[in-house]
Amino acid sequence: MTRPVETVIEAARTFLGERMTVNAALREQHSHGEDSNPPVLPDAVAFVQTTEEVSQLLALCHAHGVPVVPFGAGTSLEGHVTPVRGGISVDMTRMKQVLEVNAEDMDCRIEAGVTRKELNQHLRDRGLFFPVDPGSDSTIGGMCATRASGTNAVRYGTIRENVLGLTVVVPDGRIIRTGGRVRKSSTGYDLTRLFIGSEGTLGIITEIQLRLHGIPEATSAATCQFDDLAGAVETVIAVMQTGIPVARIELVDEVQLAACIAYSKLDGLEELPTLFFEFHGTQASVAEQAGQAEEIAVSFGARGFRWATDPAERTKLWQARHDAYWAAMAQRPGLKSVATDSIVPISRLAEAVLAAKRDIEESGLSAPIVGHVGDGNFHALIMVPPEPDGLDRAWALDRKLVARALALGGSCSGEHGVGLGKREFLEIEHGAEALAVMRAIKATLDPRGIMNPGKVFLN
Ligand SMILES: Cc1cc2nc3c(=O)[nH]c(=O)nc-3n(C[C@H](O)[C@H](O)[C@H](O)COP(=O)(O)OP(=O)(O)OC[C@H]3O[C@@H](n4cnc5c(N)ncnc54)[C@H](O)[C@@H]3O)c2cc1C
Repeated sequence: MTRPVETVIEAARTFLGERMTVNAALREQHSHGEDSNPPVLPDAVAFVQTTEEVSQLLALCHAHGVPVVPFGAGTSLEGHVTPVRGGISVDMTRMKQVLEVNAEDMDCRIEAGVTRKELNQHLRDRGLFFPVDPGSDSTIGGMCATRASGTNAVRYGTIRENVLGLTVVVPDGRIIRTGGRVRKSSTGYDLTRLFIGSEGTLGIITEIQLRLHGIPEATSAATCQFDDLAGAVETVIAVMQTGIPVARIELVDEVQLAACIAYSKLDGLEELPTLFFEFHGTQASVAEQAGQAEEIAVSFGARGFRWATDPAERTKLWQARHDAYWAAMAQRPGLKSVATDSIVPISRLAEAVLAAKRDIEESGLSAPIVGHVGDGNFHALIMVPPEPDGLDRAWALDRKLVARALALGGSCSGEHGVGLGKREFLEIEHGAEALAVMRAIKATLDPRGIMNPGKVFLN
């Protein structure tokens, strides 16, 4: 008897042709993201190019009860794209058009497979930029689906604050449009926000209306180093509480900095806890912000600021920060990692980071710390030792850090999302009733449970 998935593959070939493929190498490539979960092969990979194709494909999968896993750049860190129940991996990377840029309104409309770097390359000569910058060059559809953020979130917000509207194909194939171009609207339920962070479990985002920002007149970046981690974290808290509008403020502990120095060939930095700053504004306001931040840092023991004034030097510094994950991985070739993503209210940041550091030391594992600390968000990249119990030890440490973040009023994930890895914490964080409402929304939109099954909810 023909399996439902085979029926779908054959029917989809009538409109996707060779772009519906069962090629072994492509199925392997779509069997995992950037995480340590065991890979699972999809039955087929569909390379879609239009919203209408996505609609036809979902209608077919819905009719035959075949699982669908949207796939952007595959950089997510919690098993999001692993097709745990097989089915069709829907690759969005050929939906690459920038459909319109409205410079005077500072917005644009793009297809979901455009990456953040591609968009900024496109905007470069218009005096505009898109600020949300995860360390990877992810697709903007994937960023919407994981409610991503990055180093600029402290000033410009996360993807949630920068999306005005969406085109989404819901699981039965209907195409809906949410939001619009205006900066605010008080009509109807906020469906845009419902799909932001839905991790491919409610539908496939095919187009995105984004807010853009003007490239600031002046930008300056600096690093400052501390003899101890406490001084660095106390500086962050004081800078944020003083209300200095920093564009970026990132913490890198001494273990991670050693990896960055080696990987990105950074000169003039010692292997010490370090803060990376960036300030945006006019020449005068940048100088004022920088002066205030430096004064605070020095009062907590910083060895003064080291300025990166020339744009090439600044780019090198921030590229090194964005490459922190690869730098840490390069230090332990062949090992896998588990990335924690705790976030706490800013006033509890010192408690959370310093306790995390103690937990890491006690665990005997290597876990460099790096973080978007202006938001209270930090990552420990737990390297999984090669022994048979290595992954269990890494997850045990992850659970410990999450439990503390939750106890401090925080969240188990500031930006990476739930996927497979954080499902067990969802009820603790949101409560059973809120979780029941989330399940009811899922059941209404996706009654056959075809969209990215096994993710977000346990069972
Ligand atoms: C080195 C490195 C650094 C990182 N730094 C950050 C960081 O600073 N901040 C941060 O937030 N994350 C970070 N991440 C995690 C990751 O880059 C983000 O989660 C990113 O948003 C994923 O985008 P993607 O295109 O790779 O999506 P994928 O990994 O392909 O997919 C992620 C999820 O979104 C769904 N999805 C993808 N596209 C669509 C779509 N069009 N419609 C509906 N659902 C869709 C998938 O089904 C899946 O559930 C980092 C990862 C790496 C490897």
